[in-house]
Amino acid sequence: MNIHEYQAKQILDRYGVPTPRAEVATTAAEAKEIAARIGGRVVVKAQVHAGGRGKVGGVRLVDTPAEAADVAESLIGSRLVTNQTGPAGVPVEKVMIAETLDIKKELYLSIVVDGNIGAPVVMASTEGGVEIEEVAERSPEKIFRVAGDPLIGLTTYRARDLAMALEVPPEALRSATALISNLYRVFVENDCSLVEINPLVITADHQIVALDAKINLEDDALFRHPDLAELRDSNQQDPLERRAYKSDLAYVKLDGGRVGCMVNGAGLAMATMDITKVVGADPANFLDIGGSADQERIEEAFKIIMDDDDVEIILVNLFAGIARADVVAAGIVAAAKETNAHIPMVVAMRGTNADEGLAILANSGLDITGAPDLAGAADVLRQKLLETGGNN
Ligand code: GDP
Ligand code: MN
Repeated sequence: MNIHEYQAKQILDRYGVPTPRAEVATTAAEAKEIAARIGGRVVVKAQVHAGGRGKVGGVRLVDTPAEAADVAESLIGSRLVTNQTGPAGVPVEKVMIAETLDIKKELYLSIVVDGNIGAPVVMASTEGGVEIEEVAERSPEKIFRVAGDPLIGLTTYRARDLAMALEVPPEALRSATALISNLYRVFVENDCSLVEINPLVITADHQIVALDAKINLEDDALFRHPDLAELRDSNQQDPLERRAYKSDLAYVKLDGGRVGCMVNGAGLAMATMDITKVVGADPANFLDIGGSADQERIEEAFKIIMDDDDVEIILVNLFAGIARADVVAAGIVAAAKETNAHIPMVVAMRGTNADEGLAILANSGLDITGAPDLAGAADVLRQKLLETGGNN
């Protein structure tokens, strides 16, 4: 789960990680008041679940409270499109008004779990402010990595190594080391999947401050943090992903494809997307209905896939174990009839009540082709893709 910058900074505050003085506003009048309270120049920052705001006017330095109000007025209620959002962008409902700092150097610091070594890894670079993917490509030697130990944590000398690698001035070495250690505690104690500070800045007076903050929380650990679970802002989510979340379905939108994929299980999802590629098309999404699903959830799953405007054809790959194939088939037919969507479907069904399921599909009067296995479904899909206008 993603949270806002201002929420992330509230967490950092609790761990003694320095952040610029800031408050959140939902109206231009509030923005003006806060700017006056902070005094002098302030920075107005759109609060959205996406980075890359600086490049598209979502982060603006202003000189007076009146200007802060103007910028807030133009941002609140608009949608921000950055290189991390889709073309529709994300809604701006709040802005953060923060004191500006006299920045001498912008650094990069993040923590993620490295699945290969099974531990959190702290990544640091002197090339902050810019996109880290660019740094990784252009000059990978400028990214330093230090793994924490799942039991011991991140020892102080390792944190100090990173501070040294960041070339912080001697005056800031002690505070930089403390900051890295504290950030590591933020990551572990809140079950984060990502903590990213870009930029981490050194000011003219040698203070080290988290100027930006991005925190992702591990969904599967949220039950341990009811207070953090409340930070969810579903308005920032893609509407289809939000509907899927509500129905406890795992839906992932993919860019550039036209085949909607419905499966039950992650392994089937991978196989289904692979086979889609093999027949020369790209998946537009995949939706995992999980192990047990009643007809209502299956219907909602189908409606979500059909409401994805990119979808021109749907490939279903079902291994009916706990989920029964006839129930899924009934859900598919009901959803297709209810939405009146004329999207062709290819369905591979095996397992419990597969024959009954395939019969329901065959007798539905809809453009649904059943197949007893994925290879058979792939052949049908290839044929249908040719009929509906070549590859993408
Ligand atoms: P992002 O573009 O969404 O990642 O937003 P950031 O919070 O990282 O801000 C983008 C850029 O704006 C930063 O890299 C800074 O260069 C600049 N910026 C943000 N806040 C301040 C500030 O208080 N003072 C100054 N001088 N620049 C700032
Ligand atoms: Mn940033």
